[in-house]
Amino acid sequence: MNDKYERYSRQMLFAPIGAAGQERLAQSRVLIVGMGALGTVLAGHLVRSGVGLVRFADRDYVELSNLQRQMLYDEEDARQGYPKAAAAERKLRAINSDVRLEPVVADVTAGNVERLLDGIDLVADGTDNFTTRFLLNDACFKKGIPFVYGGAVSSRGMSAIFVPGRTPCLRCLLEHEDGSAGQTCDTIGVISPVVDMVASYQAVEAIKYLVGASDAQRRSLVTMDVWRTYYYEMKFPAPRHDCPTCGLGQYPALQVDGRNTATTLCGRETVQIHERSSLDLAEWRDRLAPAAAVSLNPFLLRAQLPEGERLVLFSDGRVLVQGTDDVVRARTIYARYIGH
Ligand SMILES: [Zn+2]
Repeated sequence: MNDKYERYSRQMLFAPIGAAGQERLAQSRVLIVGMGALGTVLAGHLVRSGVGLVRFADRDYVELSNLQRQMLYDEEDARQGYPKAAAAERKLRAINSDVRLEPVVADVTAGNVERLLDGIDLVADGTDNFTTRFLLNDACFKKGIPFVYGGAVSSRGMSAIFVPGRTPCLRCLLEHEDGSAGQTCDTIGVISPVVDMVASYQAVEAIKYLVGASDAQRRSLVTMDVWRTYYYEMKFPAPRHDCPTCGLGQYPALQVDGRNTATTLCGRETVQIHERSSLDLAEWRDRLAPAAAVSLNPFLLRAQLPEGERLVLFSDGRVLVQGTDDVVRARTIYARYIGH
């Protein structure tokens, strides 16, 4: 028995997958957007199960408060301030070296989402916000790629797979969703077991799709609360004829300007400013060093400013201003140190 059959033997013994399904997984290419709590669990399942290529994108870096639920990271990643995509790659490579891994340290926007979906068979949602989810939903339906939605906050979670031409889309179901009226992991918290469950529901629907088990594909939105032991399955309605995405083909999230220049990162006293398309980090270390305490790793540059705020620069052009929720204040700091 060769290594491959050894590695996947228990999964291949599961009749609905078998040897043929295993081969299909090996030919499959998946994109995971967001490598936080959901994304790390999703990536663990998909890489261990032998998906051929896993591309994963995240804009953030590992912090101590992530470790309670973001299963791939450890204290060393947080100490080094490693980007999540880079830290995840190290762990995933050690888990299964057969899988092609494509880490992307970037913000997913209308400007780059279609490029990220190039050559991809399925997209899995590891994000924490509806702006990015609707962007993924629209890009997936435009390209005819399934989108596996998942969300978790507090002890509650939701999940569904949306398949163009076969099911409604996320916009049909949750068009007016605004992120549970501002309730996010950063404001009301989240416990890790619900994250595992939601990501596992996502992973199993992804695997069903990739092995071609369309009869087994779930056609419902599942809602659960693991603290209250509640589970509810809402059967999909028919796609809405007037849905701007799957009915009218307008894909509204793709029409907005890709560079939303200033965003408050909720609950974190951080404003993200994205006005440049790239930053040479070594050059910026030299420029900022006379005025601030700077430290550089291969992915990001931090600068502790005399004003009390901190800047974090990424090579994709993003700058985080930490220590304020005030966009005007953040722009002032940005103009002072980075300019326009
Ligand atoms: Zn729709």
